[in-house]
Amino acid sequence: MHKMEKRLGDRVEFWQSTRALSRPVDVMVKPQEQHYVKTLLEAAGLEFDVMMDDVQKVIDDQRMDDRVTSSDLASFDYAKYHTYDEIQQWIKDMVAAYPGITEAFTIGNSYEGRPIGGIKIKGSGNPGKPVVWFEGGIHAREWISPATVMYFTNRLLENYVAGSAEEVRLLDGLDWLIVPSLNVDGYAYTWSGDRLWRKTRSVNKGTPCIGTDPNRNWPYEWGGEGASTWPCTLTYRGSEPNSEIEVKSVTEYLENLSKTQEVRVFVDWHSYTQLWLAPWSYSAAAPAPKGADQQLALGDEAVAEIKKVHGKEYTSGPLAETLYASSGSSLDWACGVLGTKYSYVVELRDSGEYGFLLPANQIIPTGEEIYPSVLVLGRYGLDKY
Ligand SMILES: [Zn+2]
Repeated sequence: MHKMEKRLGDRVEFWQSTRALSRPVDVMVKPQEQHYVKTLLEAAGLEFDVMMDDVQKVIDDQRMDDRVTSSDLASFDYAKYHTYDEIQQWIKDMVAAYPGITEAFTIGNSYEGRPIGGIKIKGSGNPGKPVVWFEGGIHAREWISPATVMYFTNRLLENYVAGSAEEVRLLDGLDWLIVPSLNVDGYAYTWSGDRLWRKTRSVNKGTPCIGTDPNRNWPYEWGGEGASTWPCTLTYRGSEPNSEIEVKSVTEYLENLSKTQEVRVFVDWHSYTQLWLAPWSYSAAAPAPKGADQQLALGDEAVAEIKKVHGKEYTSGPLAETLYASSGSSLDWACGVLGTKYSYVVELRDSGEYGFLLPANQIIPTGEEIYPSVLVLGRYGLDKY
């Protein structure tokens, strides 16, 4: 499969890297290449299934079914996917609906000038509390990420206001800073142009290829294994660390914040493949980070809680060991630079049936199973530090 990835280039699009041994690999094949690819797989003795017979048809059907416009919070439908504008409006509406315990914030503007908004849940606790940082949508096509982040943010606030003891303790004890959609230009483009766009939308001088992989662009162990130097690939690392304004906005925001508040929890929400991944990402050979035992214990507890809800199996472990090395990633930066103990990449549903094209009717079930893991993150951030 690795040879095929190298040899066939963009004739076949790999939805995951081939470097993870003993895990399935999903590839998207053009109609004219189907026969050739099947022949290669059969010659190599590799088993395969057709998961989606016609990707474009799935995209077109979802465009009809899953798009919805909402004008206010009362009509906001968590069971649908939402546009960039709707997500930013949702932040404003949530802050208006929960005055005093929430605030809106902006980390900066994207390459194309879109504000990147977030919601801070401060509860009624004192200023200077430890911080939980959540970011969704760093990869544009992973629509379930912003949708799940909005779902559990809403549920945290509903339960807090209803007086649920656990949520009151966690929201009063920690500041929760939540950016539902980080790669906003890429996200907007998945609605207006290419549904399967992953990267940012910045221009790469000297090439016709657009965009950098924002999860290979973080200024820690940048430019090593699992990050490409070639702008036309899906994992292009960028011209330098922090070259992408969306990444730079987060790193500057958090470095500044960490002067006065401790960032104890950091989660970059992705899809798909159902994984709960801890540092390190840049190398499987690197010595485990400080506090790795508790870091991995949290992951194990989180996936156990997830399974209890709808029976879905998520796998927990250090990223490079569980999957493959990828350098310049968000969770390594938070762990290595900020010293955040509970730093993760979480890959949400599914395990390959729809991949990036997860139907909207799975948003609520995904949110329901992830919610208890969000409480686990809060408990560790507050109690086990
Ligand atoms: Zn991703």
